[in-house]
Amino acid sequence: MNPSTFRIKEAFYTLQGEGARCGRASVFIRFSKCNLWNGRESGRAAALCQFCDTDITGIDGENGGVYELNDLLDLALHLWPNDINDNAIGKPYVVFTGGEPALQLTEALVASFKSAGFETAVESNGTLPLPRNLDWVCISPKGKSDTIITQCNELKLVFPQEDLQPKHVNHIKADHYFISPMAHYGENESSGMIVRENMQAATQYCLQHPKWRMSLQTHKLLGIN
Ligand code: SF4
Repeated sequence: MNPSTFRIKEAFYTLQGEGARCGRASVFIRFSKCNLWNGRESGRAAALCQFCDTDITGIDGENGGVYELNDLLDLALHLWPNDINDNAIGKPYVVFTGGEPALQLTEALVASFKSAGFETAVESNGTLPLPRNLDWVCISPKGKSDTIITQCNELKLVFPQEDLQPKHVNHIKADHYFISPMAHYGENESSGMIVRENMQAATQYCLQHPKWRMSLQTHKLLGIN
């Protein structure tokens, strides 16, 4: 792949659904592909992350495609509905997600978004180096993977995970710690819905370990992306 282009699964304007910035208007840019799963059901059992509930392959989503840096920035500027310079309305905010954005995200890309006025955030599994100029880093460790990022703004743990318990991420320092109940995954009609038993288990965990706060996928409750 040409390193100066970016494979984007989808890009859209929405409300951040989870974590410390839940409810914030955001441009979401979803990078295609992840290093912990190939995105195919046939590969799920052998994957390091086995409970993904997102379509992470290809470039066929809303505004998906192969973009050069300036074109991707133009898309984000187009998606942001307000005057980019009118901070009285609210600072423009972009969330780089995936898939695993660290496979493609570069300091140059982040710098260009910041120069244009965006506050920049990433949601990553933490197994790969990230650009150092990001404004907000959310790490969500997965399964048996090795998390190399040990400091972040927000640590979000999908719960419960057979291979990864909260005590296994004690070495990761964050400003905010969130437990996120695992949703249904795979090819069934309730895919993406939060499982009641997981919600109850997560609730009990937060009650017993107040360092951790509950994070629900409110975008699913709202019926938005
Ligand atoms: S790390 Fe994230 S994007 Fe990758 S397979 Fe797991 S849930 Fe999906």
